[in-house]
Amino acid sequence: MFPEEKLLMIPGPVPVKDSILGALASEARSHVDPNFAAYFQQVLSDMGEMMHCDGITFLVAGGGTLGMEMAAANSVSADDKVLVCSNGYFGDRYIDICKRRSRRVEELHAKWGECVTLEQIEEKLAEGGFEVLFMTHIETSTGAMMDLENTVKGIRADYPDLLIVIDGVAAGGAVEVDMRWGIDIYLSCTQKAFGSVPGNMLLWASKRAIERRKNMGEITESYVDFEKWMPVMEDSRRYWVTPAVNNVLALGEAIKIMKEEGYENRYERHKRVAAMLAESLAAIGFEVACAPELRSPTVSVFLYPEGMNIDDNKFRKAADDEGVTLASCLGDFAGKGFRLGHMANYTKHTIVSSVAAIERACIRCGMGIEPGAALAVLQKEMTAV
Ligand SMILES: *Cc1c(COP(=O)(O)O)cnc(C)c1O
Repeated sequence: MFPEEKLLMIPGPVPVKDSILGALASEARSHVDPNFAAYFQQVLSDMGEMMHCDGITFLVAGGGTLGMEMAAANSVSADDKVLVCSNGYFGDRYIDICKRRSRRVEELHAKWGECVTLEQIEEKLAEGGFEVLFMTHIETSTGAMMDLENTVKGIRADYPDLLIVIDGVAAGGAVEVDMRWGIDIYLSCTQKAFGSVPGNMLLWASKRAIERRKNMGEITESYVDFEKWMPVMEDSRRYWVTPAVNNVLALGEAIKIMKEEGYENRYERHKRVAAMLAESLAAIGFEVACAPELRSPTVSVFLYPEGMNIDDNKFRKAADDEGVTLASCLGDFAGKGFRLGHMANYTKHTIVSSVAAIERACIRCGMGIEPGAALAVLQKEMTAV
């Protein structure tokens, strides 16, 4: 009866603004063109400033996983003792990446929906000999966000030489990050909270991280080697690998949008909207899988109401038919709920329409909800000063 329009409300890729798509559709240009090189440098310097990085910002074509691999390749040798904290699917991916490099990988696991705590990490590190620590800022499979600032500061105070690596793929661009807290490598990518299309990963390396790479000598990889990319990040008229030029232009446009909004405003918006969504969907029986203090501002796992026997595939298909694409859950939450992405450049309209489509999906699935019950809460929240 209605023409189709779909909102992509998954934890990346996200809906992309027209001006960003416009940049993507522009004529390809030479990667060594001085104008392009100047643009590239501006993107890097904006990105470095955003994270307060005292070392080098890398922008390389590839997904977030490439960033994970690049961080590990430039910090872990075969005999290095490494600790990986896993809060779910992507933490487990980091364990796999590290185990391919080192024989001495130790693991800490959180329960699904929780985060490994500072106390657990301190206890493990106290065993001694650890050189690199890997953590996930926001675990996309559970919607749990670790307390990055206090955890990193706490560890840094006791272990001044430990290299601290953070997978920030689902957080960077939506949550405050300050590398001066003691972070050595932070990595993210373009298709999540930065609001651009998939294609580039971003990696920020502190002076300590660059120094560690130098001390490793030659590494096995070439594509992800910091030393190969460093001259290009200083001056992109130099050639190492052809950059994804249009993707860089698109990221530049995405950064312009972020700066116009203001980073602080952007972080605050993500926090408030995540809370609004949780409150409004609670009115129709959906519970967020994480405790309130761990809830991520970018992605939420909403569990189906207990005892209703909702068929997950049917529910998400109904939501899709009603115009909102949701993601399935993983691990312990598989089949028990859906994941809703709420990151980057959504508007009030996007959020209201998403909740409305979820309500219609509930009605279609015979959940017996009051039409407008979630929307009523959302509208109140949105208009409260
Ligand atoms: C999406 C995601 C990744 C992987 O990114 P790809 O671009 O799919 O390689 C890694 N870590 C986290 C936390 C993510 O959310």
